[in-house]
Amino acid sequence: MAFEGLTERLQKAMEKLRRKPKVTEADLRETMREIRLALLEADVNFKVVKDFVKTVREKAAGADVLKGLNPAQQIVKIVNDELTKLMGEEAVPLNKAKHIPTVIMMVGLQGAGKTTTAGKLALRLKNEDHARPLFIAADVYRPAAITQLQQVAAQIDVPVFEKGTDVDPVEIVRQGMEVAKQNHNDYVIIDTAGRLQIDEQLMDELANIKELVNPDEILLVIDSMTGQNAVNTAQGFDDKLDVTGVVLTKLDGDARGGAAMSIRAVTGKPIKFVGEGEKMSDLDVFHPDRMASRILG
Ligand code: GDP
Repeated sequence: MAFEGLTERLQKAMEKLRRKPKVTEADLRETMREIRLALLEADVNFKVVKDFVKTVREKAAGADVLKGLNPAQQIVKIVNDELTKLMGEEAVPLNKAKHIPTVIMMVGLQGAGKTTTAGKLALRLKNEDHARPLFIAADVYRPAAITQLQQVAAQIDVPVFEKGTDVDPVEIVRQGMEVAKQNHNDYVIIDTAGRLQIDEQLMDELANIKELVNPDEILLVIDSMTGQNAVNTAQGFDDKLDVTGVVLTKLDGDARGGAAMSIRAVTGKPIKFVGEGEKMSDLDVFHPDRMASRILG
């Protein structure tokens, strides 16, 4: 289960507070210190932690929690509310085009889970929306990438438009869009190339695809297990592409939770979905309030 360490530490901090017959200013300071350490250890961005603890402390002071009944319980509620806010408050749905097709561009580093997530998303759209999506294979740098997309697509019975690896990706996308229009596909999901790290050439290519199709949704796929790097990567992609949403993958293996808690605060972009496994059905809508409750245990 994800976030074990963080949940345990936060629970311990709260439990300590609960056991006190009377909560003093010093107890509150100590609790704040424990929360701060727990978040830092969970690899939450330093500035995010600083702001978070400051806000919780101010809210606690403002509500005069020490004078009220059940100060510990009130603090737990403040922490829960602020965690929810930090992660975006409400679930943010996928953007949808007024006229079909809705164009979704998947971007992210190699190995983040783009192709897998493209498949999961297509399955979700098929199941919920009776959608007829078309994939466009725009990763021409690794022949295996096209094969992988085809394998994923076959599992969920979605067609793939591909032109091999010798055609310019922008041209592939242009042709793929024509095919989608002819076939009245209501969604187009573009699987783009990733690299091991952000580089200028890749970003230019993605920017060119963006300019050509003006996507309704640019979903940045981020591996949550990479912690602080995930946040830096998100920032890098967003600076160049102005993404519309984030999918956080591999949350099932993310023991710490830093990326889940920092990405929204740092980039301002909503986490729309989370990947919690390798199966096509392992994609969930991201609900900040549920995630906060899960983190607090
Ligand atoms: P891409 O290079 O960005 O297209 O990444 P892939 O889609 O090929 O995914 C890389 C690896 O991560 C594959 O082995 C996937 O099965 C795995 N993967 C993707 N999403 C998840 C997830 O949410 N949880 C887990 N456990 N594995 C995932």
